[in-house]
Amino acid sequence: MNQYLKNLNKIEFAVTYACTGRCKHCSEGEHACYGEHIDPLKAADAVRKISAEYNIKTVMVFGGEPLLYADTACEIMSAAFEMNIPKRQIITNGCFSKDAHNIRKVAENLSKCGVNDLLLSVDAFHQETLPLETVKLFAKEAKNCGIPIRLQPAWLVSRDDDNTYNLKTREILESFADMQIRENDGNIVFPEGNALKYLAEYFTENRPENPYTEDPFDIRCISFSPNGDVLGGNVYRCDIMEILRKYAPDKKA
Ligand code: SF4
Repeated sequence: MNQYLKNLNKIEFAVTYACTGRCKHCSEGEHACYGEHIDPLKAADAVRKISAEYNIKTVMVFGGEPLLYADTACEIMSAAFEMNIPKRQIITNGCFSKDAHNIRKVAENLSKCGVNDLLLSVDAFHQETLPLETVKLFAKEAKNCGIPIRLQPAWLVSRDDDNTYNLKTREILESFADMQIRENDGNIVFPEGNALKYLAEYFTENRPENPYTEDPFDIRCISFSPNGDVLGGNVYRCDIMEILRKYAPDKKA
């Protein structure tokens, strides 16, 4: 086992950077890589191989909007279920289709493939471009299928700050009350990508750090990009276990 990965416990996949949203706070910026998505079989294979050697507790898929490639998300989750990984998580904005039948079908498939933690991104930023009715329809279908759901808002400055975005976010969260969906603490928006471009005035006194930064000497989570890049290698060119075996941090960093 690679000593720099001895505490590895999470695998995450940015299934695609394509997105239905155009959020002002998005740390990924303008989503230029439309349509590219990770190969489902390669991704599932990586889940099986890594979890056979490391004590993986969570497999997570996100994006962009991962449910634009729902079959890929399901392939990854099925592999996680098969490998008995306890948390099988998806982060979605809930807007991937306008077709009610398709929305129901995707919810059913996510349930069948073992998703057990669905984080629904809802807040003032997402709802500037993504219709709440569509999000709620998906949430209703997912709930009917028995998938545990949590609302996952992004807060600006802090959860308690009364800026106009946070006020709107509270209003949006309250509108879910009758659906009895649990609310998560959510994230604090940090100054990267679009957030730096559109919300710079909110970061003059306080610059929240990117909470997803990993210590290169003690990697806890590895993250796959839609093009197969992971940990300085690429799964289309090299076996994932070889990438993990060869990984070494840049000592100058
Ligand atoms: S924050 Fe999420 S939903 Fe919004 S543009 Fe970025 S990836 Fe898409």
